[in-house]
Amino acid sequence: MEYKYAKYNTLLNKITNKDNLFVGNYTLDPYQNCDFGCRYCDSAFDDVIYIKTDSLQLLEKEIKKIEKGMIIVGSVVDPYQEAEKKHKITRKLLKIIEHNNFYAHVLTKSDLVLRDIDILSKIKGCIVTISIISLDKTVLNIFEKNVPSSKERLNVIKKLSENGIKTGLAVMPLLPFIVEEELEEIVKTAKQNGAHYLLHKHLELKGDQKAIFLKILSELNPDLVSKYEELYSGSYMPDQSHIAKVKDMVDKYCRKYDMPTNI
Ligand code: SF4
Repeated sequence: MEYKYAKYNTLLNKITNKDNLFVGNYTLDPYQNCDFGCRYCDSAFDDVIYIKTDSLQLLEKEIKKIEKGMIIVGSVVDPYQEAEKKHKITRKLLKIIEHNNFYAHVLTKSDLVLRDIDILSKIKGCIVTISIISLDKTVLNIFEKNVPSSKERLNVIKKLSENGIKTGLAVMPLLPFIVEEELEEIVKTAKQNGAHYLLHKHLELKGDQKAIFLKILSELNPDLVSKYEELYSGSYMPDQSHIAKVKDMVDKYCRKYDMPTNI
């Protein structure tokens, strides 16, 4: 992996359509591309990570010109990827958000977020969503081998919740025919670790991503390849009846364990 410094013209993006899932008004990403290398993710297809060196100055300037709202920190890449250990750009951006009395919603898979509890607990209405695709080590080793284990991520939910930060679990991307049988266990475990809500969203397979993903999928179970081809035959999303069926399962388990399905 190569790391390069890069300058950008803007940092904040305004969300134009109402964001019912993450409840954001703006997004920002401290890095371009992601060194966690999850194999289903197009932010991990490049071997160069660009560090947005001027992001602090950009945020200081841009935040003064916009209406108060919720900033999604890490909308395209993980703001707590490996590069953040050294560069601490996310930490500095969160400080600016806090000083300007904006709200923040951090999306991550990393336990490095615990480093910043001091700032997160000062941000008004701060939310952290931790994404977990499976509790199964075989699945994680194939798709997300560089990311902290699901056990470590559940511990992040527990610690943030204990520190009074609204924290939830996102099953994202939800991998069809792989995660369904674990869904009840995921909801139950999320509840036991203090999650305030559980979100889910199916895997999208756009453009070249589909062929790449199906090749990786065959490492897990070759029988799944044809099932995915059929499920994704008409679109980059699974067919609507499958999405509705999984949603019913999630809703049922969330009712059982008294877990909200939105923020
Ligand atoms: S952590 Fe997120 S952004 Fe990074 S590679 Fe994995 S899915 Fe992509």
